[in-house]
Amino acid sequence: MQKSKKDKWVTEFIHKSLQKRSPYTGRFAPSPTGPLHFGSLIAALASYLDARAASGCWLVRIEDIDPPREQPGASDLILKALDVYGLHWDGEVLYQHQRLGAYRDTLAALKGEALAYPCICTRKELASYLPNYPGFCRSRTDAGCPELAHAIRFNAMDQVVVFQDRIQKEQSFSLEELGDFVVFRKDGLFAYQLAVVVDDEHQGVTDIVRGIDLIDSTPRQITLQKALGFHTPRYAHLPVITNEFGDKLSKQNKAAALPLKNPEPTLWLAMKALGLPVDSAIRNGSVEEMLIWAQQHWSLSPLQQQTSIPEASLTLD
Ligand code: GLU
Repeated sequence: MQKSKKDKWVTEFIHKSLQKRSPYTGRFAPSPTGPLHFGSLIAALASYLDARAASGCWLVRIEDIDPPREQPGASDLILKALDVYGLHWDGEVLYQHQRLGAYRDTLAALKGEALAYPCICTRKELASYLPNYPGFCRSRTDAGCPELAHAIRFNAMDQVVVFQDRIQKEQSFSLEELGDFVVFRKDGLFAYQLAVVVDDEHQGVTDIVRGIDLIDSTPRQITLQKALGFHTPRYAHLPVITNEFGDKLSKQNKAAALPLKNPEPTLWLAMKALGLPVDSAIRNGSVEEMLIWAQQHWSLSPLQQQTSIPEASLTLD
């Protein structure tokens, strides 16, 4: 067997046997819009620890289906940072740009079942309603004309979605209020909600641990999963790390990239943010030692119903 083929086979074998061993498959799914920052480290670390503490699989998926928002080189930088912080994933990284056929088939299935419809509303028309959609095109008959630029929306049928979040407790959302959401964009790109649902199912994801900033995507994703006959994973939405103005650390507000040299103090702070009972002895360990200790002490209990953590409250003492 050629070396690259053999490596691929070995990786697939490990991936499959890990999936057999534990009913848990978690994932970290960054968009390559910039390097990882401290806020994204929290999401990566929590999903990694939650998977490893359950002897589960932990996958990495690069959500690169929005080229206008992407930064050249960001995917490699993200993978490099995960490696430096000891967050080693199972199997091969899945890149969403390689999955367009699956998204196309799913969109066709939704349209075939009349669960999705074309929408010609402009941003201007919707300005006073967004991010919620008032359903203008649900019954518009001219919206499907190919010459009119249109998005495709999922008909959420005004359902109420209730789910048990492992951190935030019971959540209830009215899809009537959230409105029918876009599954294919007017600019010809597949929307995040569609791609994420298709790939979570494809990768057999059982557990999603991510920031609370995505919590109102969850009812949308659950409705889509149900319409498509997919599994619904368990969800845990983490508090977000906020800056001195109370805003979530993000690439948009210029959060600093994670240091790639000397990662231990930053990893220690991330463990502290996640409520792990760290002490200075742990801080003197290597990244690998810290992660083993963190897996042994992992619990979501200290985070219960927390929605934000000010970065300034995290100090190295
Ligand atoms: N790609 C999304 C982001 O970077 C996260 C997707 C998810 O965890 O569902 O914000």
